Amino acid sequence: MMSKQIFLCAINNILSGTCLEDCKFCTQSVRYHADIERYTYKKIDQIVQEAKIAKSHGALGYCLVTAGKGLDDKKVDFVARAAQAIKKEVANLTLIACNGTANKEQLGYLKEHGIDSYNHNLETSERYYAAICSTHSWGERYETCKNVKSVGLTLCSGGIFGMGEEEEDRDELLKSIASLSPESTPLNFYHPNPALPIKRRNIEQDEAIIVIKQARRLLGKERLLMVAGGRELLFSEQEERMFEAGANAIVIGNYLTTKGNKASADKEMLRTLGYEVATRCDTH
Ligand code: SF4
Repeated sequence: MMSKQIFLCAINNILSGTCLEDCKFCTQSVRYHADIERYTYKKIDQIVQEAKIAKSHGALGYCLVTAGKGLDDKKVDFVARAAQAIKKEVANLTLIACNGTANKEQLGYLKEHGIDSYNHNLETSERYYAAICSTHSWGERYETCKNVKSVGLTLCSGGIFGMGEEEEDRDELLKSIASLSPESTPLNFYHPNPALPIKRRNIEQDEAIIVIKQARRLLGKERLLMVAGGRELLFSEQEERMFEAGANAIVIGNYLTTKGNKASADKEMLRTLGYEVATRCDTH
């Protein structure tokens, strides 16, 4: 029997930490003065080099993330140039853009320039959203996800658990994500930072397992279900549980503003558990 395959995805924060929005879980908001590295546009050459490294570690997906509420002309152009440069030099790497609110025209432009997929998370339930962000609406997030699908990009949409929401909110969030039928879904578990207004994470491993199982049930068995941010906090040394619950993808390397495990340690973990690293991404 073939062993279960796990898909690896890597993230590159190509414009960090300069956002005027007030998402209470996000260290990139300038309002909370979190102690993170902040820089403007990363050099395209550096982005390409980092893509090559991610590919050499087995990443099938590579996500180009920019801080800020959404796309403007300058950002669209930057992401498109980065995508083109990577596609020219690195074969078989699915490129995902994660640049916030986006309209159809912007998304179409990214698609024309080599972006395969767009990540936009619903973050939490529609009901709880006002408690975590006051500067833009949940509805706007949902709209961007629909725009992604309408231009023919594949959709990557998930959320963050453990931000003080109730069980009902978790169910509602998962149902809303499933209603968009995304090709991939990242589940993040809140990583507290002393600078942020949300002080603690209200989810533990057993509840996270329930979330993963429920997500798998609602999304169907073909889709990518990724445990992204917070994996090290909740599943360190016990990753097998999350894979058995239905997860089939992880992020390797660092997250946006927090450090992850070394890629080699994660690959060793997968090997020890008897999983293979996937070498083709059939959903894209
Ligand atoms: S819009 Fe994005 S970058 Fe800005 S604060 Fe919210 S999550 Fe962070």
